[in-house]
Amino acid sequence: MTNDTILSNTLHSAAAALRAPMTYRFTARARLVRSDSGEADTLAFCRGSHLHPEATCYDCSTIAIGDPFLARLLVDLLAACEPLAALLAEHADGAAVCGATEVRLGPDAAYDTGVLDHRGELLAEFTRALAVARAIGGGRRA
Ligand SMILES: [Zn+2]
Repeated sequence: MTNDTILSNTLHSAAAALRAPMTYRFTARARLVRSDSGEADTLAFCRGSHLHPEATCYDCSTIAIGDPFLARLLVDLLAACEPLAALLAEHADGAAVCGATEVRLGPDAAYDTGVLDHRGELLAEFTRALAVARAIGGGRRA
């Protein structure tokens, strides 16, 4: 397997990990709504738009979490998954096309490893995408 294929697979794998378990949750925007107790501790999923963000409609699906902090964490997590997955998938396709190679960088570098193009130029966006992929899905370094 070539280095660019390994990079592309690492990025695709992390993107898939972000997308796989919660397909419905990516197409329905998650937001916080108040439960009967008045706490903003319930998640509402809906594909529609709401004039009042804390109101629910007949299409909303709600899940009471029972803790405002945990509910906020889940909303933030769900909101971040698809943009991160899209970024990783975009760079995975790019890595396969441009012959990107991961190399170890020197002790003064901002990153442990860097992704270089065929001329040896650092591809900062690919390097960051690979770091994000490793944070999510693991994978070995160069
Ligand atoms: Zn709704």
